[in-house]
Amino acid sequence: MNTASQKLVDRYGRSFPYLRLSLTDVCNFSCDYCLPDGYQCEEKKSFIDLNEVKNIAIAFSQLGTKKIRLTGGEPTIRKDFLDCLRIVSQTPGIEQVAVTTNGYKLEENIDQWVDSGLTHLNVSVDTLDSRLFHSLTGHNRLQEILSGIDHAHNLNLKSVKLNAVLLKDVNSHQFDQYTHLLKNRKLSIRFIELMQTGDNLEYFNRYHIGSQVLKNYLFSNGWSEKIRSASSGPAVEYYHPDYEGTFGVIAPYSKDFCDSCNRLRMSSTGDFHLCLFGEQGYSVRHLLQSQEQREELKETLCNLLGNKRKTHFLHDSDTGVTPNLSAIGG
Ligand code: SAM
Ligand code: SF4
Repeated sequence: MNTASQKLVDRYGRSFPYLRLSLTDVCNFSCDYCLPDGYQCEEKKSFIDLNEVKNIAIAFSQLGTKKIRLTGGEPTIRKDFLDCLRIVSQTPGIEQVAVTTNGYKLEENIDQWVDSGLTHLNVSVDTLDSRLFHSLTGHNRLQEILSGIDHAHNLNLKSVKLNAVLLKDVNSHQFDQYTHLLKNRKLSIRFIELMQTGDNLEYFNRYHIGSQVLKNYLFSNGWSEKIRSASSGPAVEYYHPDYEGTFGVIAPYSKDFCDSCNRLRMSSTGDFHLCLFGEQGYSVRHLLQSQEQREELKETLCNLLGNKRKTHFLHDSDTGVTPNLSAIGG
């Protein structure tokens, strides 16, 4: 089949300009909801190499992908992370190169990341209380990470976002503190509802809280919902005339959340995932080795997309096979 005109569109009419590419599932943090005992190296895995990263980026870009987010585990601990950024940013058709990071050594490294092609930065900061941050992540680095974010904010990035998982009694009473960060900074702070994974049921039951608590806070403090464009993805954004920054809310348990799904995933071992939850992933690693395989890779990706379901089944506590989000890249 000639795939020259093929695009990644599923049977529900959703298109996928956005790929989340996991570079490793190793992580140096031990967030309570993700890897509470730290990364456990049960078997030595071989993560995709630079040639494979390049072949993924080119194939997806030829199928209409415009944005690639490097994630993990912690993507920035890869020794060749700068090469990964360069390869992705030099791929024709890729307009946005994003990373999601825990912010480890952000301040020292952000200049090099930007020089290597990074355009969009997301840093996870689940609490603005140093003591709680230490206990939640295993690292006493909150102040360093916040300085790194300030530094990044002054660089020529298209966007800088803070990610926070909404956690009952951990940050669900800290919205005022987050708001202060937005007064004079063009940042976006995105709260995402805690998702249940295969490993975190007990934690989920204790700490999950619906995003209505944040929406109530925003409405009663003068924040308004932005009109959403068709391509805006699942986050709902809020703005305030007195603040430069914005809030975003990602509520995976909300009705119709999956209607705006615009993303696909590749794991760090070359599995193609149609959804964060619910399926094993399809190994396409054998097709990532050379450019001669590109047409077959593209055709395989388009065919596999036909299996994408309309919605996840998280509401029924069906987490599929996802043990934690570091495993396939959150
Ligand atoms: N290590 C990087 C980081 O923490 O930013 C990137 C990988 S991490 C898996 C990506 C994002 O997923 C982070 O913002 C993290 O807070 C979020 N995350 C992890 N587990 C989650 C869960 N169970 N529910 C909601 N978000 C989760
Ligand atoms: Fe590591 Fe990110 Fe998971 Fe935290 S959320 S343990 S930083 S992969």
